[in-house]
Amino acid sequence: MNQSDVLVIGAGISGLLCATELQKAGLDVQIVDKGRGVGGRMATRRMSGGRIDHGAQFFTVRDNRFRAYVREWLDLGVVREWYRNAQIDQQEEDHIRYCGVSGMSDAPKQVASILNVHCSQRIQKLLWNGKQWNAMAESGDSFCARELVITAPLPQALQLLETTGLDYAGGVIAKLRDITYAKGLALLAILDGPSGLQHPGVIKPKSDAVEWIADNSIKGICPSKVVGITVQATRAYAEKYWEAEDAVRAPAMLQVMQDNLQSRVVEYRCHRWGFTHPLHIWKGPTKCFRNPEQKLTLAGDAFGGPRVESAALSGLDAAVQILGCNFISSNAD
Ligand SMILES: Cc1cc2nc3c(=O)[nH]c(=O)nc-3n(C[C@H](O)[C@H](O)[C@H](O)COP(=O)(O)OP(=O)(O)OC[C@H]3O[C@@H](n4cnc5c(N)ncnc54)[C@H](O)[C@@H]3O)c2cc1C
Repeated sequence: MNQSDVLVIGAGISGLLCATELQKAGLDVQIVDKGRGVGGRMATRRMSGGRIDHGAQFFTVRDNRFRAYVREWLDLGVVREWYRNAQIDQQEEDHIRYCGVSGMSDAPKQVASILNVHCSQRIQKLLWNGKQWNAMAESGDSFCARELVITAPLPQALQLLETTGLDYAGGVIAKLRDITYAKGLALLAILDGPSGLQHPGVIKPKSDAVEWIADNSIKGICPSKVVGITVQATRAYAEKYWEAEDAVRAPAMLQVMQDNLQSRVVEYRCHRWGFTHPLHIWKGPTKCFRNPEQKLTLAGDAFGGPRVESAALSGLDAAVQILGCNFISSNAD
């Protein structure tokens, strides 16, 4: 049995920053994640000696609370500027696009390095006995805490909470259930030579199938000899071919690559994202949902917005809400 003041489910950016703030305030915090590593949708994958970002491609900074974290990561050499948006799309605001020095999972790994994180622990059942939460993992391990924070994509969080049989959200449950996510499809590929793209190695082709192509070697996260490409399908294409085999859904994406890149694909694989970003977000006074009686907080991009920074701010807000309830660490008893 693993006991702590607070248990955070989800080691994506929202869960990690929430845990960091709670730990700084003196609480004993544990984080569990079903993934083999931390970062959630800030994900980097190895493929044929290359490194490919297959979830979030970059993050931007608008809020000073997140900027403070990003400054620290910049000072530590964990993240760097990738490009400014005006270089690609002059229609959009010119925010700096940041990425991890060796992939998007770098910043989450840095944050997690001083936290108590248990990976490969998929929570499948929750119990609240009126005093504490018990989270049971598929592995057979249990995690107990007086306070629970769930940062899984909201539909997954609600599914987990159904195992409690609790009325945890009263009249707002319908609003929570209303928040759905877009599906996503990424194709990761290795080329037999340079892509021919110019810095920053990004194009947004005019295509019904593909909305984004990025060259991870020009981005600087893939060793220069290996040309690893991320291709993201449009939402409509991802949803249409959600159940299809790679042999059916990949050819149109590969064709767009062939039309836009100068070398050939020698290897590829597809990755489905069941929860890319929320289609609308929670509208409340805070960027999280909290039930103070049941010591339950829900956070993540469904509450902050469909970006890394917004998810991070939701995690930070969740910590403020928990600490605002004068939560006293059991260590101080
Ligand atoms: C393909 C794609 C491209 C994107 N591009 C961008 C971009 O370029 N810029 C940008 O700002 N944002 C982008 N986003 C959105 C951004 O990645 C997310 O908004 C943000 O990372 C969400 O963070 P989070 O902590 O809320 O959730 P997550 O990162 O999803 O973290 C939740 C964690 O909960 C864990 N979990 C779920 N259920 C359980 C369980 N039962 N037990 C244990 N653990 C569990 C998951 O494994 C996961 O690690 C993109 C997302 C995707 C998928």
